[in-house]
Amino acid sequence: MNYVVHYCKNKDCNNAWVDEDLTNAQTRPPMWKYCDECCKKYGFVNPATPPHRDNYETRLKQIKMFKFQAKKINENERKLSA
Ligand SMILES: [Zn+2]
Repeated sequence: MNYVVHYCKNKDCNNAWVDEDLTNAQTRPPMWKYCDECCKKYGFVNPATPPHRDNYETRLKQIKMFKFQAKKINENERKLSA
């Protein structure tokens, strides 16, 4: 397990701490967690796992698939109207 300096997600808070690197530091520094102080102070709850990159990639794939289908439909319509 790697460790990396996290910055608090709360922009008004300047806390930084060393924590497990769950994202391979895809964002530098990781800012998806609130520090302990903010959690206690504001009742923030940190997710157990970082917002996952897979979600983004899955959505990208869906968008690409949609565009592909839309293109096919357009082509079919063109063929029909020709
Ligand atoms: Zn904080």
